[in-house]
Amino acid sequence: MSFSAVVVAAGEGLRAGPGEPKAWRLLGGKPIVRWSVEGLLAAGARDIVVVVARDRLAAADEALAGLEGWKAVTGGRTRAESVQAGLAAIGAKAAQPVLIHDAARPFVTRAHVDRLLAALDLADGAIPTLPVPDTLKRGEGVVDETVSRDGLWRAQTPQAFRSDMLKAAYRGWPAGEEPTDDASVMERAGGHVAMVPGDPMLMKLTWPEDFMLAEQLSAGRRIVRMGQGIDAHRFGPGDGVWLCGVRIPHDRGLIGHSDADCGLHALTDAVLGAIADGDIGEHFPPSDPQWKGASSDRFLRHAVSRVAARGGRLLNADVTLICERPKIRPHRDAMRERIAELLGLPVDRVSVKATTTEGMGFTGREEGLMAQAVVAVETPL
Ligand code: MG
Repeated sequence: MSFSAVVVAAGEGLRAGPGEPKAWRLLGGKPIVRWSVEGLLAAGARDIVVVVARDRLAAADEALAGLEGWKAVTGGRTRAESVQAGLAAIGAKAAQPVLIHDAARPFVTRAHVDRLLAALDLADGAIPTLPVPDTLKRGEGVVDETVSRDGLWRAQTPQAFRSDMLKAAYRGWPAGEEPTDDASVMERAGGHVAMVPGDPMLMKLTWPEDFMLAEQLSAGRRIVRMGQGIDAHRFGPGDGVWLCGVRIPHDRGLIGHSDADCGLHALTDAVLGAIADGDIGEHFPPSDPQWKGASSDRFLRHAVSRVAARGGRLLNADVTLICERPKIRPHRDAMRERIAELLGLPVDRVSVKATTTEGMGFTGREEGLMAQAVVAVETPL
């Protein structure tokens, strides 16, 4: 199900101690707000509005550089005003789900989001909740009373709503009162808010010690995904071939709609495969005349940008070219350098190999050339 999200990053976070406001601090070398936005993108968010303080628009551009599908707007004096500024800026259809999320909860995943969206089918809102483990006391220095934990829950974010209903609920919220979360606004408006199981990993980074714990947890929050791609093109008349972004003189050419660069096509499919994002034919239909004769580095760059848009990055690539001729070895290092450049990797993370099929099959008969590629990509969980 497609959904939008508002990420609230306008707060000062004074309880977290001196230094940058907490959404802008680094966790595992990356701004905390970026963790949240990447998590929501990886969960399928279609458009994300990040609400920031007036002097943080440039910081947002920097912190979220390379990600797609987000924009930043400035917030108000209070959290409620900031949420409403975010709601006003989302481009979603009225009835589409919107998730409101605190930027300072960096470990949001698709599993969290899926639970909320499923619950939203039968409710006006859905929130992640956790039981209260500690005994609760009311008092001021001295205990006045012990408060029963029965029926008490801690509410986390993201919180999911139908965007039109949440907007209406905010319009009815009494001026001068400050809600502590968005579900309370929906509750006051008479909406039904479903509770789904929360997760300790959705913790809000609030106190200085939270940041130390999160730093240790952050290491395990990314996964490595493999992708593989295969491509073949037929030999025809010509005086050279494009392979892995390098022009090689040959007594024949490769036939194809684009420049027929088998190596880059296999690599493009491998990159798309690693993030389960379709294949090259889907992104660049051969029926579309704009790709006629196109240089295949465009296809690969596009696939790499799709990885970046999900907060992922390439780790390495391994390409195998299968042909009797032309000889690949003399061009291998030039190919590795070109691929490294396109993938944004050091050359020692890129391998190009070649093999023959000892005269067997279509490559053996030199009817065509085949390429295989494998890549590893790291993305948010
Ligand atoms: Mg091809």
